[in-house]
Amino acid sequence: MIRILEKQVADKIAAGEVVDRPLSVVKELVENSIDSGADNIVCEIKNGGKSYIRVTDNGCGIPSDEVGVAFARHATSKIFTDSDLESIRTLGFRGEALASICAVSNVEMLTKTKNEKPGTRTILRGGDTVESAYCGCPDGTTVVVTDLFYNTPARMKFMKADNTESSLIIDFISRMAIAYPHVKVRLISNGNILFSTNGRGDLYNTVMTVYGKSVGSELLPVDLETDYASVRGYVSAPSASKTNRKYQIFFVNGRSVQSKVIEKGLSEAYSDRLFEGRYPVAFLFLQITPDKLDVNIHPNKREVRFDDEAFVRELTAAAVRNALNVRSAIPQIRAESVSKAYFASDAPVEYKGLRDTEGDDGRFSAVGSIREEQVDLNILLSTMREESQKNDAASALSDAFSEEKQTSAMPFRFEDLRPTGSIFASYITAVDDDSFYLIDQHAAHERIFFERLLAEFKSAEKHSQPCLLPMLKDVTHALAERSEDWIGALEAMGYEIEPFGQNTFAVKAVPMFMEPDEAESFIRMFLDNMDERTDFSDYGMLERIITKACKSAVKANDTLREEEINALLAQLAACQNPYSCPHGRPTFIRLRKYEIEKMFKRV
Ligand code: ADP
Ligand code: MG
Repeated sequence: MIRILEKQVADKIAAGEVVDRPLSVVKELVENSIDSGADNIVCEIKNGGKSYIRVTDNGCGIPSDEVGVAFARHATSKIFTDSDLESIRTLGFRGEALASICAVSNVEMLTKTKNEKPGTRTILRGGDTVESAYCGCPDGTTVVVTDLFYNTPARMKFMKADNTESSLIIDFISRMAIAYPHVKVRLISNGNILFSTNGRGDLYNTVMTVYGKSVGSELLPVDLETDYASVRGYVSAPSASKTNRKYQIFFVNGRSVQSKVIEKGLSEAYSDRLFEGRYPVAFLFLQITPDKLDVNIHPNKREVRFDDEAFVRELTAAAVRNALNVRSAIPQIRAESVSKAYFASDAPVEYKGLRDTEGDDGRFSAVGSIREEQVDLNILLSTMREESQKNDAASALSDAFSEEKQTSAMPFRFEDLRPTGSIFASYITAVDDDSFYLIDQHAAHERIFFERLLAEFKSAEKHSQPCLLPMLKDVTHALAERSEDWIGALEAMGYEIEPFGQNTFAVKAVPMFMEPDEAESFIRMFLDNMDERTDFSDYGMLERIITKACKSAVKANDTLREEEINALLAQLAACQNPYSCPHGRPTFIRLRKYEIEKMFKRV
């Protein structure tokens, strides 16, 4: 027999689609608060939301004569006609949330608009209005949901432990808080305030308030804009990486999403800075013209589909590389860590302190190289250069936020650097008006060598110098078989090589910019790092071999003369990423004058 279901049964079934755990209640209520134009939202839960959920906002409220209908299914103030569906600007529009929530719980709502004197208090049980009366209350809306799923035992059983349910809610509210930095968001769980943002619109501050304890204070600003899209937000310095992706949080056009494409772009940017199994922290906000997004995605789903995935991946990677390639990524020595090490040890302070800092908190971290070569989008590149200037300003800003109240940070410029000498035949010392610097000669030289080599590789014209005596190189039989491949690669760098007997080759000329002994050890390491499986058409693979070979090619430490120091610094200044060697070790370490004064207890 076919029957129309009773309203209560139909409502419960419909509710199941919208509300399946405490998180969904919180999500619907908080989204309603955002839609109401509120700039102050409090969310309180008890027992992971199972026994109690309260969301209070200072938004527009609901007029008393509309409260009843707000709880009806398909009741919404957000759209009127089907054409409105094309241009939805609110988070909700289906008019199902309140109806679904009250079908499976007890709900109390207090609400008042600005124009009404008294507000309205309404109590519903399992969807039926039990009480509704005028009542004094502030502008805005409070919804309290208790005894969730009391009348749907199957759902009730499906709920997980309090901790599991509350962590989902905390994660959601955290994301909302940073997606809406102009809204004050407070989260309370079992009577404890977990966080409370200030709503002043500053993203960095909001991120720190919500995630500060877990992500540390060393975040670098990301800010890249092209015609169709922009990426903004913050990423961690490589030293602050994590063992999982928990702190990789992405938003696309304001909506919190999960995206493998953005994840990949992010990983690419850190590829030569982080070991396998380490993940950067990232809070990234993508804005992209809606026609480049697949809009047919369910509003409750967290996935997002891009028309052009490669574009989004490369945009993300370029934006993040850009962020990592700024002065604030130069590792810093800080007074507090030095004195900590001093007090913790009996050893003399001078040297130990510095070394301890390294083991202590990993501040001497890899900064890594910018690998612009691999980003094919020319538009991106030119924007990146313009942006890097802006970025400097932004990083100066984030410095100013760092926990110590510092004197205003000076932007670093190579022109201002004045070399003062070198120490241990290994490190150049230099100052500008703001800081003292140590520059690792070997790392700097490697960086210069690496970038020159890649430039030579890509340029049409090769610059070679003939060898006085040809160098003879023996290779394995397998390599001799495919000599065309690797000779081709080496000739692209400026070498000239000819066969000389069965498995022997004669190097007749070497790249112009290399010293003869550098050219010798480079080619030796290059051949050593190659095997039968090496694919020379794979640029990434080739670059990895070059990176390895550079390391040993660059000559050993030496006390440099003044002209040599100046030349090295000038060459470093011309690099695309002067702040790290190709393997990701830093070339610079900075000690601010202010920190020195602090160590001497002058400030
Ligand atoms: P939807 O959000 O899809 O419109 P809901 O069931 O969530 O549907 O809410 C129904 C209506 O109740 C909303 O359209 C809105 O007019 C009103 N409403 C709900 N929550 C609030 C709130 N916190 N502040 C103001 N109005 C609200
Ligand atoms: Mg809603």
